[in-house]
Amino acid sequence: MARYTGPVCRLCRREGIKLFLKADRCYSAKCALDRRPFAPGQHGKSRGKKPTEYGLQLREKQKARRIYGVMEGQFRRYFAEAARQKGMTGENLLRLLERRLDNVVFRLGFALSRPEARQLVRHGHVTVNGKRVNIPSYLVRVGENVAISEKSLSTPRIKEILEGSSSRALPVWLSLDANAAAGTVIALPTREDIQLPIQEHFIVERYSR
Ligand code: SF4
Repeated sequence: MARYTGPVCRLCRREGIKLFLKADRCYSAKCALDRRPFAPGQHGKSRGKKPTEYGLQLREKQKARRIYGVMEGQFRRYFAEAARQKGMTGENLLRLLERRLDNVVFRLGFALSRPEARQLVRHGHVTVNGKRVNIPSYLVRVGENVAISEKSLSTPRIKEILEGSSSRALPVWLSLDANAAAGTVIALPTREDIQLPIQEHFIVERYSR
């Protein structure tokens, strides 16, 4: 599946929030958003006017896409699936995005960013219920066990991340056995569990036009 491969810090600067796309750098003083907290480009500093309704819808959609690293076509498919499901479409959409395997690997603290989690999955370091799964968009289900494969536990980068990951907050819908580098999906996340600054009603409005 395709993914964005351009410069990522400008995405944070465009959205005006930290999207945590660069692992260690995001947590350091080198973060580009901390250093230049305005939109990129020639007119970045002067973009001050009140956004239109269309602009707000676009920005919320782009923000959600960029946080989860999903391209437009796939995002539309998530939206179509969310609209088919019972309940609030916006909440369904965020729940689908949260259930992506790369996101769960990130949430469990096995990677410092979603792009890094995606790479771990792509490179075969992650198992689901004991079987290797290398598809970042795989949607986890309640009761499934997500782990770093035994062989990969000695990889220097993975060791380094696991040693430092205890300080990260674990979402309530996941449980973690840090010693085994394994976690279980104990429930599907509710909107309150997904603490991201996304106003999903703007996304629903955008796709419902
Ligand atoms: Fe975003 Fe991380 Fe770059 Fe900061 S360092 S701008 S949080 S990707």
